[in-house]
Amino acid sequence: MENRWNRTDAEAFDGPLGSCVYASRLLGSEPSLVLHGGGNTSVKVIDHDLHGEQMEVLWVKASGHDLATIEPAMFVALRLDRIRRLVALDQLSDAAMANELRVARIDASAPTPSVEAILHAIVPATAVHHTHPDALLAIANTPDGREKIEELYGARVVVVPYARSGFLLAKATADAIGRLSMADTVGIVLMNHGLFTFGGSSDEAYSRMIDLVTEAERHLERSSAAAAGKRAKSPSVGPIRGVGAAALAKLRSEISTVAGAPVIMSRHTDATSWAFSQHQDLENLAARGPATPDHVIWTKTVPMFGRDVEQYAARYRSYYEQHKPRAPTSSMLDPAPRVIFDRELGMLTAGPDVGGADRARDIYLQTIWIIEQATALGGYTTLSPEDFFDVEYWELEQAKLDRASVARNFTGEVAIVTGAASGIGRACAVELLEHGAAVVGLDLSAAVATVSDAPAYLGVACDLTIPGAVVAAIDAGVERFGGVDMLVAAAGVFPDSAPIAVANPDAWRRAMSVNVEAFVHLLSVVHPLLVLAPRGGRVVVIGSKNVAAPGPGAGAYSASKAAANQLTRVRVNSVHPDAVFDTALWTDELVAERAARYGLTIDEYKRRNLMGIEITSSDVAGVVAAALGPVFSCVTGAHIPIDGGNDRVI
Ligand SMILES: [Zn+2]
Repeated sequence: MENRWNRTDAEAFDGPLGSCVYASRLLGSEPSLVLHGGGNTSVKVIDHDLHGEQMEVLWVKASGHDLATIEPAMFVALRLDRIRRLVALDQLSDAAMANELRVARIDASAPTPSVEAILHAIVPATAVHHTHPDALLAIANTPDGREKIEELYGARVVVVPYARSGFLLAKATADAIGRLSMADTVGIVLMNHGLFTFGGSSDEAYSRMIDLVTEAERHLERSSAAAAGKRAKSPSVGPIRGVGAAALAKLRSEISTVAGAPVIMSRHTDATSWAFSQHQDLENLAARGPATPDHVIWTKTVPMFGRDVEQYAARYRSYYEQHKPRAPTSSMLDPAPRVIFDRELGMLTAGPDVGGADRARDIYLQTIWIIEQATALGGYTTLSPEDFFDVEYWELEQAKLDRASVARNFTGEVAIVTGAASGIGRACAVELLEHGAAVVGLDLSAAVATVSDAPAYLGVACDLTIPGAVVAAIDAGVERFGGVDMLVAAAGVFPDSAPIAVANPDAWRRAMSVNVEAFVHLLSVVHPLLVLAPRGGRVVVIGSKNVAAPGPGAGAYSASKAAANQLTRVRVNSVHPDAVFDTALWTDELVAERAARYGLTIDEYKRRNLMGIEITSSDVAGVVAAALGPVFSCVTGAHIPIDGGNDRVI
């Protein structure tokens, strides 16, 4: 592992806390050290209180932040003596520990410190870093892992047997440290968990982390020539032929049912997870649980093998009932799987939102690598089901789940938005993302790819009039998010205006092709998926004021929009915007020409409705989001004008 400490870069960060922030980011940007909020860092400094008296201060990472993107404000300053003394207690309940950590803050409004704060406090060194390195876990999680670690590192590390994070782990570590001189010691290996390194400065603690991990990597290279090597991104095997989107949507629907809410489910096509899904000893290996305990809240202990969701849920319920006496006040988490292996589908991951599904993917790809390395060293061993249960049902771990996902209207649901590159379609895509939906944007324009850089967005450039392209785009959306709950049909063309007597037949055909035929085909592709939507599928068609009140010369557009609406009377709702000028349909010249035709100024033309207001794409998107939401759950076939009031009739 490369030591990426750069003196010039480090100097941009101020003081000991600044160096700690810099080191944290370097550690956090190395996925083979920490993933998704894992790991923590600290630095001890001397400061003065309001009376000018000297005090020792521990700056430690606040709970729930990613090291890769950490800022100084995400560290908490604690009175070191107060925290250090806690380890002398025989017992300390979680509630009492949380209270002590809160009252030891120098700034009462600072965030909640990491649950490892006590451990950081008792390590007799200025800078302390903690990660979960892949290479170290691969060696430690083997039948004689402890001996291998002691042989590899000798007196440089203290080895601490597994204990749950927080007070128990700090206590176990204090015992281990107390029995040693610590003179040559630069690190602490926590069996089945991870590594601490420390030093007189963040630079030193960081360098020691890199050195110890590099030695673990070299050990793996020496010991298991065949499987060795750094964890590398593997090439994609691509979509697997013969697996229909409906099979994925059905599985996601069943998982959502046992989860009690819609889930996002992603299918993975990288070669690593595919090969593992075909492994002959898959069930035996993967059922042993994750390589470090706090991954259990994202992946659950055991993946699902095959597609029998009910059976998986039944087993999870009995696992919970069996161990519940260990956490009598707990209530059961949802019994739905987070990681799924299927011989035909490969690896899939699920979560309450895209972040959850992606986290499970990243963690499991790491787990596969560790399982393979450990197997080559003699076998993959992990904690007992009791230990995993204790972490999974530990209040302080579950708090991470709450922080990770804020439920919004459409959390866990998936929307297809056509015409998403600009105008009303784009505004709808953005609005639905803000309401928590995952969005698949389709558009002829390549700009659809860049509507949002959120992981919950997938933009696919596609010509909706080419049936094969539509099927491929919807398949891509379902592989990424698991199904389709909502469709917003906003794509449309508005041909050049012409009186019917001189109308161009090509313009007519183009309007019918995009506004009617492509929409009908899209519905036929999406309908089998919408019927599998956990909360029921919803469609909103962006119609037009022209459906009820066609403008002069807009024959092709009006007729095409009206035809499309005849298809939607029974099961979907339509909104009919009028005069929305921030869309691709309108250019400045077109607005000027239309205004002139009505004998109005441009401003008058833009506000030519009863309320005298101008209507924007985002006004339309707001109504679309409402029509897709629970308020409209009993409404279908509605036609909702969004036009500021219109008194014109045909
Ligand atoms: Zn840890």
